[in-house]
Amino acid sequence: MNPESKVSFYFQDYLHRFFPSINKVGGWDLEEKIKEMQKFFHLTVTGKLNSQTEEMMARPRCGVPGVLDYSTFPGTPRWRKNVLTYRILNYTPDLPRSMVVKAIKKAFQVWSDVTPLRFQNVARGEADILIRFAHGAHGDQSPFDGRGGVLAHAFAPSPGIGGDAHFDEAEKWSQNHIGTNLFLVAAHEFGHSLGLGHSNVQGALTYPIYRYWDPNTFVLPDDDRQGIQRLYGRKRENF
Ligand SMILES: [Zn+2]
Ligand SMILES: [Zn+2]
Repeated sequence: MNPESKVSFYFQDYLHRFFPSINKVGGWDLEEKIKEMQKFFHLTVTGKLNSQTEEMMARPRCGVPGVLDYSTFPGTPRWRKNVLTYRILNYTPDLPRSMVVKAIKKAFQVWSDVTPLRFQNVARGEADILIRFAHGAHGDQSPFDGRGGVLAHAFAPSPGIGGDAHFDEAEKWSQNHIGTNLFLVAAHEFGHSLGLGHSNVQGALTYPIYRYWDPNTFVLPDDDRQGIQRLYGRKRENF
C-alpha cells in the first residue's frame, strides 16, 4: 500500500469532518479547505499540507466542526429558560463515580458562574442535557475514533438530542494531567450544549484543540465569557 495515499485520506477525512462547509459554487476544493483550516488555527496559509498543518491535525480535539467566522452555531440556537436539567446516563470505569459527578458539576459551574443559568442534576427521567460515555459508533452519525483524535462532542440547544454531550470511552479520563481531564473537556462541550461554537482564539476554552490547565486554578477566559453572555446575559446579583 502506498503510504502517501493513506496519509492523504486521513487529512482529507479530517478536512471533510471539521471544515464541512462547501464553497459558493457548491464544490469542495482541497486547497481551499486546507487554507480555511490554516486560517482557523492561525497557521501560515499556504493551501498545502506541511508539517505544521499535519501536526495540528494530529492533536486530540473536540469532534464538533469548527467553521470560520462562527462563534455560535448558525441560527444562534439557545435555551429559552434559565434552569436546565442534566442527567449522567452512564459512567466511565476510569474514575470513581463521585469524581465523574464532581467533574461534571464543576464543568457546568464554569458557565453558571457568569450567566443567569442554573443546572440541576436529575437521576432519572427526561433531562435537557444527557451525558454519556460511548465507544465507536453510538447511534448519532458521529462515531468515536479510539484513543486520541476526537475526545468528545456535543449538540447545540434544541429538543431531543440537542444539548447532549458524548465522551469517547476509549480515552483515559482523569481528574488531573494524566490522560484526558474530564472536567476540562466537559466544560468545553457544555459550551456547545449551551450554544457556543468553536473559538479560533488560542487560549479560549472553546478552542477545538485539547489543552491541559490546572482545574483548581481554572478561570473562564474572556472570549468564552463574552460569547456566553451574548446568548444569556450576565449573572444577576442576588437581592
Ligand atoms: Zn468543541
Ligand atoms: Zn455522539
